Amino acid sequence: MSQHRRLKRKFKDQLGNGLVCNVCKASYRSFAPRYPSKNDRDALEKNKVIAGYGENVYCPNCMSTARERLVIAMLEKIDLQSKKILHLSPEEKVYQYLIDKANVVTADLNPGFYKNIDHKVMQADLNKLPYAVGSFDMVIGNHIMEHVPDDRKAISEIYRILKTGGVAILQVPFSISNSETIEDPSIKDPKKQSELFGQKDHVRIYNLENYINRLKTAGFSVQYSSYESMPELHSFAVQPHEGFLYITK
Ligand SMILES: [Zn+2]
Repeated sequence: MSQHRRLKRKFKDQLGNGLVCNVCKASYRSFAPRYPSKNDRDALEKNKVIAGYGENVYCPNCMSTARERLVIAMLEKIDLQSKKILHLSPEEKVYQYLIDKANVVTADLNPGFYKNIDHKVMQADLNKLPYAVGSFDMVIGNHIMEHVPDDRKAISEIYRILKTGGVAILQVPFSISNSETIEDPSIKDPKKQSELFGQKDHVRIYNLENYINRLKTAGFSVQYSSYESMPELHSFAVQPHEGFLYITK
């Protein structure tokens, strides 16, 4: 049996009031948890990283994740009609939310990973995006910058291809204890990356303020809304302590 069907069955007696999935509208007293692998756990705990783990991550009915539900809740406040959107490393539920509203292009460095979500996904390197200045109204890359060796270059590329007034959604995991970003893009050993950064393909753990500064240095305006300041989203079981960065050109 698939993980999805197992969850659906297991959570049958949890159906009811409490949490609501803003993707499929199902309601449960609790959602399914997601825990890090033992290789990743130490770094995530030591650096107190808000990384998408914990209680109430997966909707048992549709398998949406907490980080998808946060982005979708924020997209619901934005008029997407006939907007041109670049969706990087497209997550399934976010992509499905977008496609019937906007003109969506998807891309990734390794497009093969995303063919089952959008068969037209393009190959694109964030260091050198194959799009002209001002091509998009919006760029979405949900939890991608922590994977990118030269994130400053990637951020400036996203800035370049956005229209003036355009919006970027570039959420990242971040530490709530470290005062600096810790990073070493020269480390290419997945085991070492797990040990240091809490995931085998991450190159850093951001300090949030430092990340916001990198965005501002590229020219963006950034408005941060903390988790605590958005109680209306808590019933969607978004990730506790993950705020939202509203990034505009
Ligand atoms: Zn759902």
